[in-house]
Order: sequence, then structure tokens, then C-alpha cells
Amino acid sequence: MVTIRLHNSKTRKKEDFAPLDPKNVRMYVCGPTVYDRAHLGNGRPVVVFDTLYRLLRHVYGADHVTYVRNFTDVDDKINATAAARKAAGDPRSMEALIAERTEETIGWYHADMDALGALRPNFEPRATEYIGPMVAMIEGLIAGGHAYAKDGHVLFRVRSYKDYGALSGRSVDDMIAGARVEVAPFKEDPMDFVLWKPSSEEEPGWTSPWGRGRPGWHIECSAMSYELLGPSFDIHGGGLDLQFPHHENEIAQSCCAHPDASFAQVWMHNEMLQVEGKKMSKSLGNFFTVRDLLDQGVPGEVIRFVYLSTHYRSPMDWTAEKAAQAKETLWDFISVTRGVEAVEPDTKVVEALADDLNTAGAIARLHELRKAEKWAELLASARLMGLLDFNPTAGALGWGLSDEALKTATDIARRWAALRSDRRFSEADELKANALAAGVELRVTKQAIGQGAAGHVMSNFNLARATELLK
Ligand code: AMP
Ligand code: ZN
Repeated sequence: MVTIRLHNSKTRKKEDFAPLDPKNVRMYVCGPTVYDRAHLGNGRPVVVFDTLYRLLRHVYGADHVTYVRNFTDVDDKINATAAARKAAGDPRSMEALIAERTEETIGWYHADMDALGALRPNFEPRATEYIGPMVAMIEGLIAGGHAYAKDGHVLFRVRSYKDYGALSGRSVDDMIAGARVEVAPFKEDPMDFVLWKPSSEEEPGWTSPWGRGRPGWHIECSAMSYELLGPSFDIHGGGLDLQFPHHENEIAQSCCAHPDASFAQVWMHNEMLQVEGKKMSKSLGNFFTVRDLLDQGVPGEVIRFVYLSTHYRSPMDWTAEKAAQAKETLWDFISVTRGVEAVEPDTKVVEALADDLNTAGAIARLHELRKAEKWAELLASARLMGLLDFNPTAGALGWGLSDEALKTATDIARRWAALRSDRRFSEADELKANALAAGVELRVTKQAIGQGAAGHVMSNFNLARATELLK
């Protein structure tokens, strides 16, 4: 069996990965707060951890991996959107408006992430479905002296957990010195963070031993991971921006609630994404969602390929040029593997991925396989990375082309190659001109389809006209 090595943020080292139970490898990744469309940065952890999920399934077996990614559907931004709709004259209750907002956002999220070739996790728990377990966990923390209730709030007593700060390498006193912590009358210590807070009439709330209220964000992940994966599991992931305070707080809560367990063994964090060298922001005009790109005609697979071209622990820069290049590469891979039966993925691709998800190395190897005309290995290896895979919900390969269109274009390319190799050049030239009119630009390439030519489908592809050419 391949040994996977992963960089563990907790130890700051690359380590051999040894699951607690190889028959059930367990991973939890912090999911989105569902108040709006996922932006391009939000897609990065989805693709990174999807690639890890695919690798784990390959190594341990598809039935031996459990992947949980939550939806945070209790959040002030969701409430604010609902309140804005109400203020704009919507007669429905806040509850109905909140439910509508989270439902529509979850629907968008699924459609957009499907388009990136991300497999759905085994469980996608919503925070609102786990309020009971959150209340139970908070009660346990109070009983153990790790939390206290005051004025309808419950707070976690940070000084009661001696390892607080170990994940992000900060001490509590440094944190207070550089304080962005909130001082409040109901806190014993400014470092303490909210487990439960009171809700006004208009805000969503649940009855609890501390009055009507709602959970804090951090406790959601601690309770949902415990319910679905148990007190100790293998991998916990998320973006680097979540390491502190979110993940630090999750550790404090979970380790104090279940002192005999060890919570997550390996912590993984993806670095942030920028756009054309700058932090994405609405004021700079370089903020866009995954859907914006899809609507502009960038196939989801191209977005995925660009993400995978940079190692997950390096900051990545999205540029239009990278996207254009990725599109050419992928189209070429699609053309040459059309009709090929996939075999087992290439061992060097697997080894690169197993080396702390060296996706850039894996892509370099895909290019070598392409050069060596190992079409079946190329296809299987690309599929392991979630590329060149038919995704029915996203349309054929997310290229906005049906499988039939793809087949027709490749068949034209094959016919053209055959005409040329028979030295029937005038017929070949005629086919080339007609193909271009139907939206297929034919090009001679060094090695393609084993015959000497590859079809390149361009925009304005016309299936009916293209089909005529094959008659
Ligand atoms: P949020 O909905 O803001 O909690 O974010 C969902 C996920 O996206 C988290 O794992 C974040 O760490 C991640 N994320 C947010 N912004 C970026 C970014 N610019 N680059 C990469 N990941 C990001
Ligand atoms: Zn979380």
C-alpha cells in the first residue's frame, strides 16, 4: 500500500499518515457559511480536500473513507440578508426568510462545487440539525469547569485548557497583548469565547437551559464532528484563515469535552487565493464567484486544474492567463483520450499526490504521460485528480458540450488525420475548411490519437453541421 505523507499543522511537520482505523478513514472539513454564493477563494479548499478524499478512497477503498463537510446555517450574515428582504417589504416571517436564504445558498453551493468536479462528502450536516448535541456538549463543558453561564451567554473558560494556542503557536498572554479579543461584562476573561448567546425575538433561537438563544460558530464543528466521526478521528481541514481562532477553539472545546480522546490527529490548512496578485475585494473589482466564471464560459474543470497547479500550502494567484493555458492543456488531454478505456492510475502520479498532495508534480507527470502517448494511464491518472471525468450534473466535463459533440469533433479529427496519411490532401483541406465553419479547428500535432492529428473544438460549435461532415 502507498504511504501517504501529510503536513500536519499541529506538529509543523510532514508525517506518514496512519489512520486510527484503516477500514474507516475519517475526515472533517469546515464548510461554508451559507449566506451567499461561494467566491473563487472558497472553491480552493473544496478542490484541495476533494483531491485528498479521492486519494484516500484510492488507497483505502471507496467504502472505507468518511468525509464530513458542514453547512454553517446559523450566522448573523444570514439573518442580515433575511432582515434586508423583510425591510424591503417581504411579508414573510424572519424564520421563513432565513430558511429561504440558506436553502437557495446550499443549492447554489452544490451546483457550483459539482461543476468543479468535487464529489459530495458522505455527510453534509447543517448546524441547525445539531442544536441538541451542541447544548449537550456545552452542558458537559460547564459540568467540567471549562465553561460558565452568565446573562444568557455561555462562555468557554480559555485558561482552563492548558494547551490553548498550541495549534497556531501562540500563547494566551501574547494573544491578549495583541488583543483583538472582545471585552464584555459577561466575560471572566477577555480571551473567553462564546458557546451560546441569547437571541432577540427576530433572531433564530432555540430553547436551552440558559434561555432562548443560539450556538456560537465554533461549537457547531465540535458537536457535528463528534456526532458523525466520534471523539477521535484522522484529518481536520480548512483554510489557513480558520486556524486561529476557529480551529484553536474547536480543539479546546472537543478536548475538554472528551478528555480521554484526542480529537483530530492531522490538521491541514490550505493557503489563500488571490486574484491577479491582489487580495480579492469588491472595491478592487477583482472579486468574483465560481458562478461568475462558469457563466463567462470557463469550464469548472479548468478552474479545478488552475487550483491544482499550485501546491495547497502555497498562496495561489488566479490569473486569466493561467486559465487560458489550463483550457488548452485540458482540451488537448480530452482530445487524445477520447474513446480510450482508463486503466490503473500511473504510480508516479499516485506517489506525487501521496507526497502531501503534490498536485503540481502530478500535473507535470500527466504531461509526461501525454508525451509518451500513454493515453489510458493519462486518463486514469487525470480522473484520480477529478479531471477528464464525466460529471452528469455539470454537463459533459463542464465544457458546455455534450458527449456527442465531443465524439463528433474527435471523429472529424480522426478522419482528417486518415486523409492526410493517405496523402489525399485536397479532401483533407476541404474537410478542414468545413470543420472550421462548424466550429472545429483542426491542427496537426506531434502525437495525437496515434495518427497525427487532434481536433480542437472552438466556440460556436455546431453539432448538426459537424455531424453532416461525417456522412
Ligand atoms: P467561509 O464561508 O468564509 O467560512 O469560508 C469557507 C472556506 O473557504 C473556509 O475553509 C475558508 O478558509 C476558505 N477561504 C475563504 N477565503 C479564501 C481564500 N481567499 N482563499 C482560500 N480559501 C479561502
Ligand atoms: Zn469548523
